[in-house]
Amino acid sequence: MRFTFTEAQEAFRAEVREFLRSEIEAGTFSTQCGDLIQPGSREFSQKLAERGWIGMTWPREYGGQGRPYVEKAILMEELFRVQAPIGYHFLADRQVGPALIHFGSEWQKEHFLPRIVRADEGVAFCLLFSEPNAGSDLAGVTATAVRDGDDYIVNGQKVWTSAAHAADYGWLLAKTDLDSSANRYESASEFIVDMKTPGITVRPIVNMAGQSHFNEVFFENARIPAKSLVGEENAGFKQIMAQMDYERAGLERLMQNYPLFEQLKQHLRDTDPSETPEAFRAWARDQVAQLEIEYGIGRLLCYHTAWTIDQGKAPTAQAAMCKAFCTQYEQRVNDMASQILGPVCQIRRGVAWSPLRGDLAESLLWGPSYTLQGGSVEVLKNIVALRGLGLPRK
Ligand SMILES: Cc1cc2nc3c(=O)[nH]c(=O)nc-3n(C[C@H](O)[C@H](O)[C@H](O)COP(=O)(O)OP(=O)(O)OC[C@H]3O[C@@H](n4cnc5c(N)ncnc54)[C@H](O)[C@@H]3O)c2cc1C
Repeated sequence: MRFTFTEAQEAFRAEVREFLRSEIEAGTFSTQCGDLIQPGSREFSQKLAERGWIGMTWPREYGGQGRPYVEKAILMEELFRVQAPIGYHFLADRQVGPALIHFGSEWQKEHFLPRIVRADEGVAFCLLFSEPNAGSDLAGVTATAVRDGDDYIVNGQKVWTSAAHAADYGWLLAKTDLDSSANRYESASEFIVDMKTPGITVRPIVNMAGQSHFNEVFFENARIPAKSLVGEENAGFKQIMAQMDYERAGLERLMQNYPLFEQLKQHLRDTDPSETPEAFRAWARDQVAQLEIEYGIGRLLCYHTAWTIDQGKAPTAQAAMCKAFCTQYEQRVNDMASQILGPVCQIRRGVAWSPLRGDLAESLLWGPSYTLQGGSVEVLKNIVALRGLGLPRK
């Protein structure tokens, strides 16, 4: 792995940075912490699409650019640095497309990939994996999809489905082998579901930041065409494990509260030394320097995972290590910022004396989710131990 970027990569980074600078100047969006992957603006996604920045690693035959993952990581780092509004295409770009390229039928690839790459209307996706009793243990899903002629009939409940209220399609994991003696890892399948299908109800959940980001989704005899099946019947669990590598590997796992860290450093630079004791300043310097070192490590882990994908290798252990480390780092930024700022850290955006533009209060409310969504730290450590280090299961 190279530890420096090539001239072409640096030029690409500068191009992205310049584009984002002009968009911020034009007032398209502002840089603030909160829910990074809000259902976003399709107009902004289209601007990226025009530049070939959606599906940029995908094969050219499906509208992609065939560019390396390291370049995609550069693009994502710049987008997250300013918290650009990429929610419209983000999930489709990050994991739906790569999963379709690996497992999808020719019809699915031709139907979905070029539309995602163009950020066409009607291709926002959500991920229908977790259920009330199946999160870490996805093999325990109980939603069912039963074949009936040219259709499947879906029943069951999903939960924590980010952006389901704004999604056109859902990527669903459901049991297809209902024989109770079936191997639990070989009895579920993946489907693409049109969210407007009769029998699907989306019910928003308000999170502790007061936002409706995720949802409960209910299926009651929802009839979906058999061509919605992705890959092989009953191979859904194995497929999803490969797909999760893409979900875990990205720089969004390091940079959900990036503007907060930048502001914290600026705050300490701006603080009048006569207003704080020297012991406090020394302690704060030490803590923030430690965070800077951890940010550097997290960044290297993300780029190492991208480089591993570019080598044609499965990045399972690297992606797990990356997410486990980076999301804990993000929580440490929150902890440290609140220790440095004190009780005012809780004052939310919109109040004159909320510190760091209210980004800290927002990050504190979102913080607990960092280490859960996409796989908890404990589960990721299990993957590093078993798949990365080859340690025994017991
Ligand atoms: C903000 C947010 C957005 C989300 N978006 C989506 C989405 O769009 N689609 C979707 O399908 N899901 C989504 N999720 C759900 C997420 O994937 C699950 O929360 C996650 O997989 C953990 O599952 P769980 O919540 O059921 O917790 P559980 O699996 O019940 O885990 C509870 C605790 O037990 C620990 N634990 C579980 N198993 C083990 C083990 N084997 N060894 C050691 N410890 C273990 C966990 O680490 C955790 O601390 C989202 C979650 C959040 C917070």
